[in-house]
Amino acid sequence: MENILNKAESSHSLTKEHIISLLSTSEFDNTIFNIANNVRKKYIGDKIHLRGLIEFSNICPNTCFYCGLRGENTSIKRFTLSKDLIIKSAKNAAKYGYKTIVLQSGESKVISDEELCSIISEIKKLDMAITLSIGEKTEEEYKSYKEAGADRFLLRIETTDKELYKKYHPKMNFENRVNCLKILKQLGYEVGTGCLVGLPEQTVKSLADDILFFKEIGADMVGLGPFIPCPHTPLENTGIKNHFVLALKVMAITRILLPDINIPATTAMESLQKGGAFLALNSGANVIMPNVSLYEERENYQIYPNKFIASNDVKTYRENLETELAKIGRFVSKDKGFRAENK
Ligand code: SAH
Repeated sequence: MENILNKAESSHSLTKEHIISLLSTSEFDNTIFNIANNVRKKYIGDKIHLRGLIEFSNICPNTCFYCGLRGENTSIKRFTLSKDLIIKSAKNAAKYGYKTIVLQSGESKVISDEELCSIISEIKKLDMAITLSIGEKTEEEYKSYKEAGADRFLLRIETTDKELYKKYHPKMNFENRVNCLKILKQLGYEVGTGCLVGLPEQTVKSLADDILFFKEIGADMVGLGPFIPCPHTPLENTGIKNHFVLALKVMAITRILLPDINIPATTAMESLQKGGAFLALNSGANVIMPNVSLYEERENYQIYPNKFIASNDVKTYRENLETELAKIGRFVSKDKGFRAENK
């Protein structure tokens, strides 16, 4: 297996059977993490792309079994940020050197397409790239956001196990989600996808399928997070096991197979294990997505409990991050961090 991994460092390919074997034992974990780190260094170097995250609404009609924002959860306070606050937050992030804003939300239409497009074009004036993470929309809608200036779209497939997908997303449809990813790609977005790792009943075989799916769909970015059981959801009493290492491994194997894509050290990793984001940066990741919204109620965007929330002060967070990154020989990139710029 060591030999197979060494070959994969330059061939960037592994069979499904090999991936399943690697995910089934902890014997090769350090080799996997080291090789993923080497691949990241060779294709991307030591720069880190920062993406300023603005979670602008937690209102959602969907009922994803794992997510705290699911419509049926009446225990959380719902909010939508005003256009002014979103723009103000983006301007503040731009001031501290952020080159990308990620706009994320639940899936209710709390802002009209017209208003969203005007927010997108306002932010574009700040010379920033824009990533949207607002779920499944029609082709026309995706097209209008692109024309307004959106550059990237993040839509995790969540799991490629169709049975499991159906079980945990009763109101949704797997084929439609895949189709959305294809449309986004055709429209010229840089497309991000990813999955949850450690969902109840999820198998390593299906995680291997997930990794191969990222390759097949031509993902430009892959975000992977350990599943964290969330109160007031159907899965609240499941998964006592900590899936941090498994998520890290799925991430590292993804890096080995997709050498030049963008891979974030996700908030869920940091939430589950203090220092987890930095472990991820040393195991294949090259992106961090700090929250940059100027909003005292960030706590209400609770997709899972004990979510890591960075200090409200964008400036201090940024300065501390720079110091911590320097300790591991990394630095914040000054470019917008498109996949092509990694080459
Ligand atoms: N509505 C948008 C954004 C969803 S929130 C969309 O569907 O794309 C962003 C991500 O949080 C989801 O894609 C999901 O993978 C993750 N997430 C939700 N609940 C979680 C949980 N309990 N543990 C870990 N990650 C979770």
